[in-house]
Amino acid sequence: MNSGNSLPVGIIGAGPVGLAAAAHLAMRNQPFIMFEAGDTIAANVLSWKHIKVFSPWKYNIDKAARQLLAGENWQSPPDEELPTGKELYTLYFKPLAELPSIKPNLHIESRVLSIGRKNLDKMKTEGRHELPFVIQVLHHSEITSYEVKAVIDASGTWNSPNPIGAGGVYAEGEIENRNKIFYGIPDILNHHRDRYKNKSIVVVGSGHSAINAILELDKLKAVYPETEIHWILRKKKIRDIYGGQEKDALEARGALGIKIEQLVTQDRVNVYTPFQVQRIMNDNDKMTIIGNQYDEKFALNDIDEIISNTGSRPDFSFLREIRLNIDPALESTAELADLIDPNIHSCGTVRPHGEKELRHPDKDFYIVGSKSYGRAPTFLMATGYEQVRSIVAAIDGDVESALKVELDLPETGVCSTDLDSGCCGSSATKVNITTACCG
Ligand SMILES: Cc1cc2nc3c(=O)[nH]c(=O)nc-3n(C[C@H](O)[C@H](O)[C@H](O)COP(=O)(O)OP(=O)(O)OC[C@H]3O[C@@H](n4cnc5c(N)ncnc54)[C@H](O)[C@@H]3O)c2cc1C
Repeated sequence: MNSGNSLPVGIIGAGPVGLAAAAHLAMRNQPFIMFEAGDTIAANVLSWKHIKVFSPWKYNIDKAARQLLAGENWQSPPDEELPTGKELYTLYFKPLAELPSIKPNLHIESRVLSIGRKNLDKMKTEGRHELPFVIQVLHHSEITSYEVKAVIDASGTWNSPNPIGAGGVYAEGEIENRNKIFYGIPDILNHHRDRYKNKSIVVVGSGHSAINAILELDKLKAVYPETEIHWILRKKKIRDIYGGQEKDALEARGALGIKIEQLVTQDRVNVYTPFQVQRIMNDNDKMTIIGNQYDEKFALNDIDEIISNTGSRPDFSFLREIRLNIDPALESTAELADLIDPNIHSCGTVRPHGEKELRHPDKDFYIVGSKSYGRAPTFLMATGYEQVRSIVAAIDGDVESALKVELDLPETGVCSTDLDSGCCGSSATKVNITTACCG
């Protein structure tokens, strides 16, 4: 791309990584335009505003953003403290988005509907790379087209949750019972307390979101003792869920594993594993969840509510006119798949990667942030900040800086116990391996 091209760069999504991209572009005086579908920036993070993250501030603030904010009388939050989603918003994302170098370029309530090359459909090749992209955006009921020289898609995956059914498809009755299923992390102790108190609740899923939900339900049960907590997992071994615990370089992430193990061993949560959900029936407002445990049919009766934390998947619907290179299994950007594929390793440590690994066949088009990981759940904001630093350097013609990628990520303290090719033996994960799994 000609870095002198006067068209702006288009950013899709004003989440943590989209905002970091804006900061890097602002630092390099590159024009940009940013579209956010929500009625505020960082809309997805705000949907779990009551949750404390497990990485401290020092990992959560992008370097260019920090530099821009430092010039504006901004008070940097303490490096080692853990913010909630709301604190991330009020103390970092909001002041960043309000900077004079960012705010005028930000379009809220502006959903990107489609992107293509100007006057050239996906099948046509000749002259393709010289043409600008056209981004179609829905703002209220009006559709406007914008021309841009490059696209950074940071739209995340949070808005496309996976269904509950085994095999990644909807369980029979899942859609019909939609009003009793919460996809995401409800505010169990405050906003949604009446929905869950003294109810029988099933949490489906095995990641940090599920663990957070169960820990909050346990606190609710302490006040409303008739609350019943059931936990459905597809995994065979519950041990795999507990993570690195004391070995985790992020203490708070390790603590989640320690706390959930305590709850399970003290029988404060009923665990069903491995459980493949097939069907959800509803009789007089009480649900029965039918599935398989090994080869046996199993039914869980008298359930009032389901909280689904089975992960999420990228939405490619508005990229139909873009030539993409996507891994067929993970739906990540293809080059990243070997670095993050849980089938290959599970250390949660990712080799530094940047513009080169994030390219697609359509030149000057990039997917970044959690969406670049596809369905893999291990994304950390710090990874996205390095991705966009490298991409923006490339857009600015600074090849040397684009190629020099550095990422300092805290270890999870886990290598899979099931996989022979753990991270230590794999050439794919050479960075910052510490004692936890290799020592
Ligand atoms: C409970 C929880 C705890 C976490 N803890 C940590 C932690 O401790 N440390 C850490 O590093 N990470 C943590 N994460 C992960 C981290 O929050 C996410 O990875 C991060 O939000 C990803 O940022 P993103 O910018 O890629 O996507 P998102 O935050 O999902 O932002 C995407 C944005 O794009 C917008 N958008 C979507 N579609 C469109 C469209 N078509 N047009 C315009 N805009 C669109 C969305 O509204 C949203 O604002 C946690 C996540 C959760 C859920």
